[in-house]
Amino acid sequence: MSTHSTKPRSATASSGPSSAVMPTYARHNIAFDRGEGAWLVATTGERYLDFASGVAVNALGHAHPKLIGALTEQAQKLWHSSNLYRIAGQERLAERLCEATFADKVFFTNSGAEACEGAIKLARRYHFASGNPERWRIVTFKGAFHGRTLATIAAAGNEKYLEGFGEPAPGFDIVAFGDLEAAAQAIGPKTAAIMVEPVQGEGGVRVGSSQFLQGLRALCDEHGLLLVFDEVQCGMGRTGKLFAHEWAGITPDVMAVAKGIGGGFPVGCFMATDAAAKGMIAGTHGSTYGGNPLAMAVGNAVLDAVLEPGFLARVAAAGLRLKQELARIKDEHADVVEEVRASGLLAGIKVRPPMGEVVGACLGEKLLTVGAGENVVRLLPPLNVTDAEISEAAQRLSAALKRVAKPAAKPS
Ligand SMILES: *Cc1c(COP(=O)(O)O)cnc(C)c1O
Repeated sequence: MSTHSTKPRSATASSGPSSAVMPTYARHNIAFDRGEGAWLVATTGERYLDFASGVAVNALGHAHPKLIGALTEQAQKLWHSSNLYRIAGQERLAERLCEATFADKVFFTNSGAEACEGAIKLARRYHFASGNPERWRIVTFKGAFHGRTLATIAAAGNEKYLEGFGEPAPGFDIVAFGDLEAAAQAIGPKTAAIMVEPVQGEGGVRVGSSQFLQGLRALCDEHGLLLVFDEVQCGMGRTGKLFAHEWAGITPDVMAVAKGIGGGFPVGCFMATDAAAKGMIAGTHGSTYGGNPLAMAVGNAVLDAVLEPGFLARVAAAGLRLKQELARIKDEHADVVEEVRASGLLAGIKVRPPMGEVVGACLGEKLLTVGAGENVVRLLPPLNVTDAEISEAAQRLSAALKRVAKPAAKPS
C-alpha cells in the first residue's frame, strides 16, 4: 500500500515519541538500560527504585548473579529441543514444585494467561474423563484477572477487556469476590470448578480471607468440583509463604503459576493432583516453547533461592515492615490515602485522587509503582528487597503524596 521509506509514523495517544510498536499499552515515556537488585537505571542515566518488579515478576530483583549464571550456562549447551523429547530441566523443576506443594503433575507454559487457560482446560477435561462431559462451566469472581486470551478475559468478565472482541467465551459464572453465598448459588449441574486468586492483584490487592478460601474448598468437596487457584501474581513467595493459599491451611486441586517463577524469564505452569489431572493424557494439550531448557534453567535457579532456609520468613518480615511504613504514611497523608492493603510484599494503598496521578508523582520521585483496580497503587518490590530500600521507598512515596496532596503546588 505504501512504500517503506516514506510512511509517516503517527504519534501514540498516550505518551512518548512515535513508534512502530502497536499502541496497546499506555506506557510511561521511560526506557531502562540495566538493573541491579531493586534498582533500575534509565537510558538517561537516572536511577529508579523498582517497587514494580515488572509487575511481580523480578522476584529476585535485577541481574541476580545466580540467575545470570544459570541462564548463561544453559545458553552454552542447548536453547531449545521441543517437547517431542524429554527435557531434564522440566522433570527436575516439576519434581521440586510437586515436592513443595499439593501437586503431583506440572505442565509448563510461557505466561500466566496460558497457565490459566491450561488450568481451565484441565478442569473441563477432568469431568469429561469422569464421564460427565456436560460439566464444563466454571465459577469465577468479579475483579479477577486471569490474562488476556479470549477464555481468560471471559473468565474475569472485565468489560473493559472484553469490549470489541465479540461474544465472550462461554462457560463462566461470575460472582462477587468474597461472597461464599453467591458462589454456592452459582453452582449447578454443569459446574466443573471454582477458579479464584487467593489475593486479587490487578483487582486492587484484595486479600481473600481464610474463611472465604476454606468455604470454597468445602463447596468444591461437597459438589465434586475442582478448586483452581490462580497464583500467578500472589504465588512464588510473594506473600511470605511459597503459595498464598498456605495461609488458609487448605490446598487446591489445580493451580496456575507464572510471573515470579521465572524471575524475569517468561515461564509459567499449571499444576494439579494426579486425580485432577487424570484427563490430561497424550495429545490433549501442548506448547512449542513451554518449559524449554533456558526457561527451566532459570526456573530451577529461582526456586533454589526461594526455598533457601529463611528466605520466606524474610519476605514475611519485609512485608510487615512495608505494611507498617504504609500505615504510617496513611496517617500522615489521610487526605490522599484511604486504606492500606497488603499480604507480604504484595502491597498497595487505595488513594483518593486518580491513582494515575499518584503513580506519576512516584515516578517523579524515581520510585516505580503499579496501578491496580479500585484506585489502588501497588508496591511490589523484589522479594530480596532490603530494609533500607523499604525505608527509601517509604520516603519517596511520602514525598510523592505531598505533591498530589497539594495540586496547586505541582510544578508543570
Ligand atoms: C499477570 C496475571 C495473569 C496473566 O499473566 P500473563 O503472563 O500476563 O499472561 C494471570 N493471572 C494473574 C493473577 C495475574 O496477575
